[in-house]
Amino acid sequence: MSLNVRNYSNKDNLLFPASIGDYLSEGHLAWAIDDVVESLDLIFLYKKVSSVGNPSYHPKMMLKILFYGYATSNFSSRRIAKGTETDIAFIFLAGMQKPDFRTISDFRKNNAEELPKLFVQIVRLCKKLGLVGLSHIAIDSTVIKASADRDRTYDRERFILEEQVIQDKIKELLDVAQKVDDEEDRIFGPSLRGDELPESVRSRKKRLEKLQEAKKDLEQRSLKEINLTDSDATFQREKGKVFRPGYRAEVVVDGKEQIIVACDVVNKLNDRQELLPSIERAVDNLPEIATQDSSMVVTADSDYSAMESLKKLEEQKPYVDAYIPDSKYQSKQDGNITDEDSPFHKKCFSYNPDKNVYICPNQKELTFRYRRISRSKAYYSLYRCRYCQDCPYFGTCTKSPKGRAIWVYDNQEQIYKMRRKLDSAEGKRIYAKRKIIIEPVFGNIKHNLRFREFLLRGLRKVKSEFTLIAIVHNIRKIAKFLKKLLFSKLPRSELTPVLTT
Ligand code: SF4
Repeated sequence: MSLNVRNYSNKDNLLFPASIGDYLSEGHLAWAIDDVVESLDLIFLYKKVSSVGNPSYHPKMMLKILFYGYATSNFSSRRIAKGTETDIAFIFLAGMQKPDFRTISDFRKNNAEELPKLFVQIVRLCKKLGLVGLSHIAIDSTVIKASADRDRTYDRERFILEEQVIQDKIKELLDVAQKVDDEEDRIFGPSLRGDELPESVRSRKKRLEKLQEAKKDLEQRSLKEINLTDSDATFQREKGKVFRPGYRAEVVVDGKEQIIVACDVVNKLNDRQELLPSIERAVDNLPEIATQDSSMVVTADSDYSAMESLKKLEEQKPYVDAYIPDSKYQSKQDGNITDEDSPFHKKCFSYNPDKNVYICPNQKELTFRYRRISRSKAYYSLYRCRYCQDCPYFGTCTKSPKGRAIWVYDNQEQIYKMRRKLDSAEGKRIYAKRKIIIEPVFGNIKHNLRFREFLLRGLRKVKSEFTLIAIVHNIRKIAKFLKKLLFSKLPRSELTPVLTT
């Protein structure tokens, strides 16, 4: 019986050797990765290649498979290695070579310091392709889970308790061992040297030492808790108030095509001190930010608002036009009532510069007491009232027997200035764009790339891992751009010159 089907045979020899790339569509992501890596200057990677022993795998090839792995949610070196045997895109990028998973893992580990250099080259490539506009950048962070067991998190109390349990157990085991030794000595004579510890005691001693080291680390870093699986990770609060060991991935995103122009990972608990470093990183990667004719708009949410940062931004960065609300302003925008709505808020106290006193709503004076610096390095002066006990508003304005105190920060005016800016029609229009720029980036990283947890441990390693993620995010944008060129009938052979010229 003859079947009405196409001829099929998968065992024939090909008459001419085929290029594996021909099996991939022209707009395939693997082609874009191939083109981008070919356009990079990898001299610093070549210098690291050993001139003795077995020839190493080509750094270009290793980069291509690593980038393709991360761009397709294959983060583990085992999955990438498997891909080079079974997945046509990996096979194409690897040139049919099959590096072992340890080789891939070592390449990633040994080149952790080089990835930021590649990231910068790719950001500049995006700029050259017209994907970066530099008229509006948005700064934000997202919490990414550390590769750490939550149950292995210790605070001071747990350290003390567990140390005590282990010490009791060691004592108990040593007592038993001593009894056995005494019994053996009685039967066989004293043959043992007496300094051997039973295995059960040795392993507990090791554990005790580890605990004591971690406790020292906790104390030196003035932490409340420390995780023993990844001691660099800190307890980050997520929506729903779940605390878990993690890191904050900081990104600076350009508004034109959502290219990440700067990134970093920190193990701090908030972003308050991250505004200026984020802008500095963006300027380092794209120095034209500081030299272009018009100032660049920078938006960030209230987590980044700090009086000192806003002041420095105004003084040192005339090329930046910032729109950053403070937390109380944001809370009011969200429809909440804040302490600023109270008729006894410090805003309602007037200042008399001649006497250096504040006048309260009951027309009493608050006199200057002292000047200090806060934990966030902001200078402030404290003023206190001495007439509160007899005031009809005592209990509402203050309950303190010492009298009402107000803290006046040196750069408080920066906050009010920023509020006026955000309240303008232009300010509202600009700030509304922030979410549109930043949210798709985190959506891509966490939803499309499914990168919600670090694979590596330790701050240095997670920094390099997130740089990889930022690189592949940008390469996917380049791939989209190249695909559009292909649709506009530009032959594939002319795409590489677009990237390299
Ligand atoms: S409680 Fe003190 S500061 Fe407040 S209104 Fe009365 S006198 Fe003034």
